[in-house]
Amino acid sequence: NISVGVLALQGAFYEHLKLLKVAATQDNPDSTTTWRFLEVRTPAELSSCDALIIPGGESTTVALIAARCGLLEPLRDFVKVHRKPTWGTCAGLILLAESASRTKKGGQDLIGGLDVRVNRNYFGRQTESFEAEIHLPFLDAGKLGPNEPFPGVFIRAPVVEKILPQVTGEQLGEARLKDTVVAPARETGKRIENAVEVLGRLPGRSQLLKDKFGMVDLDNESGDIIAVRQHNVFGTSFHPELTQDVRVHIWWLNQVAGTVAITPKK
Ligand code: GLN
Repeated sequence: NISVGVLALQGAFYEHLKLLKVAATQDNPDSTTTWRFLEVRTPAELSSCDALIIPGGESTTVALIAARCGLLEPLRDFVKVHRKPTWGTCAGLILLAESASRTKKGGQDLIGGLDVRVNRNYFGRQTESFEAEIHLPFLDAGKLGPNEPFPGVFIRAPVVEKILPQVTGEQLGEARLKDTVVAPARETGKRIENAVEVLGRLPGRSQLLKDKFGMVDLDNESGDIIAVRQHNVFGTSFHPELTQDVRVHIWWLNQVAGTVAITPKK
């Protein structure tokens, strides 16, 4: 019996829950896992979860509401101390980054967990939202589709512009970068040894940004990084929950089932 929460403070949480339920029915028919899906708005609800999705929406707003609900610190513990499987889409990815650039002054609390710097509004404004077919090799590996492209929905989407060395942003001087915020350090005893894996790229746009903002020090020369994983934390720039394509949800539930099964319950 595995409980999966969806942070339901703002944004596309309902859509995630809907797709999770579909994914659970299309999961491996031999699986004996029973899933419980719930909306998370309180620390008590969070602590009853084995895994969590942080949906898209507006990351500043979500962080503000989370702080007011007393959820910010429990969320940091969930991700970085208990290291439970957590997936962030879009604004969720921003919140799960250790560092976020192009952020208004004082405007953003981060949960952290992924040793990356995201660019919050990489693709520009609402009107520059778009759909693109993307190739997600991990879906092929999971036999979830014979190499079929995934419908990528990008709404004021962030990208991962830098994979950070595995020290905290503060040590790195990330906080001193202009318009950049970092997540507070966590005393976890030991750092997550696992490296950040790039799980998906979108070709073509990074050069545009470089031309526009003259940015250097980007890791996306060979395509914008739109999906990453590090240990228990998974992040996507795009919104699988706003499509009918359930493959990423199925893949992630499989990951969760694998992790939870081998992690003894405390
Ligand atoms: N760029 C938005 C933010 O800063 C995220 C957009 C989204 O989640 N669709 O929160």
